[in-house]
Amino acid sequence: MRKFRIHKDDKVLVISGRDRGKIGRVLRVVHKHDTVVVEKINMVRRHQKGNPYIQQPGKIIDKEMPLHISNVLVVCEACGKATRIGYREIEVDGRKQKVRFCKKCNEDMK
Ligand SMILES: [Zn+2]
Repeated sequence: MRKFRIHKDDKVLVISGRDRGKIGRVLRVVHKHDTVVVEKINMVRRHQKGNPYIQQPGKIIDKEMPLHISNVLVVCEACGKATRIGYREIEVDGRKQKVRFCKKCNEDMK
């Protein structure tokens, strides 16, 4: 499985489509489809029909649709800029670990 540089709970900037320029939090990464679901981005309105038998009224549901991974950029918490992410190895307690870092300000990311 390919690894994504975008993780759940990252802040991302949308760079194309209807919500271009908006920033949201990643709710879900769908590896299978190379997509991410971002809070309050790419919303669609679904009309759900009521069911009179169980006295359930119809309602309108707002729902986030997935965006392709190439349409978002991670926003760095340290410098606040939309950035590309690199990986580097650091040593923690004598063991090597991979961490993500911001290519703009060079800070490690969570
Ligand atoms: Zn940065």
